[in-house]
Amino acid sequence: MSALSSLPEPRWGFIGAGKMASALIRGMIRAGSVSPSAILASDPSPEARNALAADGVTTSPSNAEVALGSDVLVLAVKPQAMTEALAGLDGGGAGKLVISVAAGVPLARLGAGIGTGARLVRVMPNTPALVGEGASAYCLGPGVTEADEALVLRLLRSVGIARRVPESLMDAATGLCGSGPAFVYAAIEALSDGGVLVGLPRELATQLAAQTVLGAARMVLATGEHPGALKDQVASPGGTTIAGLHALERGAFRAALIGAVQAAALRSAELG
Ligand code: NAD
Repeated sequence: MSALSSLPEPRWGFIGAGKMASALIRGMIRAGSVSPSAILASDPSPEARNALAADGVTTSPSNAEVALGSDVLVLAVKPQAMTEALAGLDGGGAGKLVISVAAGVPLARLGAGIGTGARLVRVMPNTPALVGEGASAYCLGPGVTEADEALVLRLLRSVGIARRVPESLMDAATGLCGSGPAFVYAAIEALSDGGVLVGLPRELATQLAAQTVLGAARMVLATGEHPGALKDQVASPGGTTIAGLHALERGAFRAALIGAVQAAALRSAELG
């Protein structure tokens, strides 16, 4: 953030204060990348506002008020609420950096709703952002500056990793990192079922399954090794693991995951 250190601290305005906004806000506060007093959030729901107010965030029922008081806007409403939320900005997005986390809403549609002069960024985050382990893909609209991108990364890196992609790959990223947590939850549940099948108590099986997935993911990220090479290292000749891998192949495990990402990406494209 050195390029930004000489600039005044921007004020962040969140339009929509639900699960994703709260995850991003709490992540930024926890990471120390912004103070609660520099955050505003609007939401029609008093419960949503009260939950964030307890963290020291200034809240309002008015999108226009938050837009007026902010330098950077984060659009965190459901896709179907976007048109109304944009209208509620009352032109307050003009000339600002505006970051949308709404699934499947293209930059062109956001631009048409906000009006001229906004610099738009579209993000696909995922729910592990709630525990600081998110994986986000983002794409930049016209006119977004390096300083703008640094602010986007300040937001996203406080809740996980972030990678830039062209907008044409946002549906693909949605299929992988947006929907992917559900695929992995299903895998963890199934591993736990396997543990129960061979005699482990459920609670123990689920904890061992989840930590095994976490550990394997950390190995991939920390070593930079190809996952196939790491798999080979675990599978000794005639051993237990290769017997299990054989069973996975019979069940078309990898084809199922490949197909899941493809199906989710196709669905994302349909919804956009
Ligand atoms: P949510 O329902 O928890 O939050 C949305 C909030 O927007 C609600 O509190 C609602 O009261 C508020 N709202 C509704 N209309 C509004 C308006 N006109 N102006 C201001 N606020 C309004 O939903 P969420 O899970 O936080 O999702 C928000 C966005 O994040 C969605 O577009 C979704 O696609 C995106 N997203 C969510 C996830 C996820 O897993 N939660 C992952 C990736 C992207």
